[in-house]
Amino acid sequence: MDHEADLILRGGTIFTVVPARPRARAVAIAGGRIVAVGDEAEVLRARGPHTRVVELGGRAVLPALTDGHAHLYGLGRALDQVDLRGCPSAEACADQVAAAARERPAGEWLLGRGWDQNRFADGRFPNHAVLDKVVGGSPVWMRRVDGHAGWANARALAAGGVTAHTADPPGGRIERDSSGAPTGVLVDNAMQLVEHAIPPVTAAARERTILAAQSYVLARGLTEVHEMDIDAATVEVYRQLAAAGRLQLRVYAFADGADDAAVERLLAGAPDRSAPEARFTLRGIKLYADGALGSRGAALLAPYSDEPKNSGLMVTPPERMERIARRALAAGWQMAIHAIGDRANKLVLDAYEHAGCRGRDHRFRVEHAQVLALDDVPRFAALGVVASMQPTHATSDMPWAEARLGAARLAGAYAWRRLLDAGASLVGGSDFPVEKVEPIGGGLYAAVTRMDPAGQPPGGWLPDQRLSLDEAVRAFTAEAAWAAFEEAWRGHAAPGQVADLTVLDRDLPDAAALLKAEVDLTIVGGRIVYERQR
Ligand SMILES: [Zn+2]
Repeated sequence: MDHEADLILRGGTIFTVVPARPRARAVAIAGGRIVAVGDEAEVLRARGPHTRVVELGGRAVLPALTDGHAHLYGLGRALDQVDLRGCPSAEACADQVAAAARERPAGEWLLGRGWDQNRFADGRFPNHAVLDKVVGGSPVWMRRVDGHAGWANARALAAGGVTAHTADPPGGRIERDSSGAPTGVLVDNAMQLVEHAIPPVTAAARERTILAAQSYVLARGLTEVHEMDIDAATVEVYRQLAAAGRLQLRVYAFADGADDAAVERLLAGAPDRSAPEARFTLRGIKLYADGALGSRGAALLAPYSDEPKNSGLMVTPPERMERIARRALAAGWQMAIHAIGDRANKLVLDAYEHAGCRGRDHRFRVEHAQVLALDDVPRFAALGVVASMQPTHATSDMPWAEARLGAARLAGAYAWRRLLDAGASLVGGSDFPVEKVEPIGGGLYAAVTRMDPAGQPPGGWLPDQRLSLDEAVRAFTAEAAWAAFEEAWRGHAAPGQVADLTVLDRDLPDAAALLKAEVDLTIVGGRIVYERQR
């Protein structure tokens, strides 16, 4: 043993994600890398006088836990907003706004959502004066729970130029008192009067947003996130945070490719290469092929079962997907294309095929791969295309998915098992903040049981598509690492791999344990970046 270990975890269940030896009892870490994995006697040989030894007491440890599709910046934005859901009075809402205001620079816009006057004793819309009393110096704009009205303080009304003389815009209404003065609530299209006045997000606010999201996900055990659809300004902030050593989480990013000019700028430069010391890597371009199933925007080969004249729609023409894919392939960029419906998935696979993917090591991805024609299932492996899927989407969508698709089409819906059996690379993710962040009680649990956290439906929805625990863990670890070109140094627990480890508060003998498990420790590159307080 060359190195004295900095840290040894012993006496637990180490998931190695190495098929020949799937479990070990102990792991030793030195210089940010794993130096030994195995039984305790083997690993304790790396112990020196300064080694910290953590007694696991049977707890489980997962390596390289990754969310393969998420919106970290989007999560930060959601966390940054004042959440007024459930607040029982206008005054109570205002108190929450005031508490948030104390943590921000004076004068910065305070945004939030979730109030509902039906919960207030008088059932009436709130008034700007209630907000003015507690937050006078900063503009305040709080959207109603349904997003169809907003509540402003006097500062925000003034910023939007809303006065007694402002006419109601078409499709909108300014709530007024008996003198005609605005009371502070703007309905539907009138909301834009204030929303147009909200300044673009500053770099400082972006930084704060990302750091808040980072803390949130580290506390839930993630050591890497595949960050989808970020713009150039967000990329810049990530780069600054990484250079300053303030990014502790690994962020593997895909830039938003909706805009042609942005795509040209990306393709003109070189993609980043994944590296153990890097905390931010921009290597991918993300496009959207279609919309979502819930709103019937997903592009289907045959009409929706519950809307026979609608087959959904493509939001990016196939020619554009193919053109960008061909150039990305030549320049070493990775593609990720959102595809929900079976038509969208087929056209993305066609675009990748026509672009020349077959036989090349490109690791191009289909994000969601939610509804597949059965003859497209084997094409993932044949073309070397990654299926990046979100188990919790299945358990969120199951109450209405059959109505949209009909029973026959469900055979290719959320079909993880089918893809895996056909040899595809299957990556697990959550799409947070659309779904919850929790990888253990969320993604792994849904992948293994196909039940919601309440245990519905008993036995699981379309249970033939369930994964074993080890298959599910692989999707959230080794496969995610492979899909980010990291497999040489990350993805499983073995000597030489970086020490990205998540220690749970219990072993995982069955699916019920996934639901109850909490995260005790999160380690990235050998450093403890989260430790649960008890
Ligand atoms: Zn997404």
